Amino acid sequence: MTAVTLFLADEAALLAVAARLANAAEQITGKPGDAALTIFLYGELGAGKTTFSRGFIQELGHQGKVKSPTYTLVESYDLPNWQVHHFDLYRLADPEELEFMGIRDYLGNNRIILAEWPQRGEGYLPDQDITITIDYADTARSMTLTALTQRGREILDTF
Ligand code: ADP
Ligand code: MG
Repeated sequence: MTAVTLFLADEAALLAVAARLANAAEQITGKPGDAALTIFLYGELGAGKTTFSRGFIQELGHQGKVKSPTYTLVESYDLPNWQVHHFDLYRLADPEELEFMGIRDYLGNNRIILAEWPQRGEGYLPDQDITITIDYADTARSMTLTALTQRGREILDTF
C-alpha cells in the first residue's frame, strides 16, 4: 500500500494515528545506526500539523511539552533511540536560509525529521519517506498518508 486516507472525527483520533505511526516507525526504522526518516506535513494553518507532531514525539518517549517551532523554525528532541527535529518553515523567506542555519547538522543518522510547510524549504530538506496531508472536513479532519520510499511503504503497510 502506498497511500491511505483516514477520517479523524476529533483531535483524539488524530493523536491516535500519530501514535500508531510513531510505533510503526520505531519498529521498522529503529535499528541503531540505520535510523533516518523524513515526514513532510501539509495542510492549512490550524489543520493539525503541530498536533500530529506532538502526538508523534510524545509517543516516542518525550515527556514534556512539544512547542510549535513557528518562530524558532526548528525544535529538537533527544530521545533514547532518536533525535527528532521538528521544523515549521512557514516563516522562512528563502529556502537558502536553511543552509545558513546549518541544516546539514540535522541530517545525520538516528534522526527523524517532521517538517511543517516543507514547500518553503524546497531543495534543502532530505527526500520525504512519507507525506501527510491534513484537510479540514467541517469540524473534523481527513488525513492522507503517502509513502514515497520503500521504508515509507513498510511503515504505511502496518496501517
Ligand atoms: P497546524 O500546526 O496545522 O497549524 P495545530 O496543530 O497547531 O495546526 O492546530 C490544530 C487545531 O485544530 C488545534 O487547536 C486542535 O485542537 C484543533 N482540532 C480540531 N479538530 C481536530 C482534529 N480532528 N485533529 C486535529 N486537530 C483538531
Ligand atoms: Mg503548526
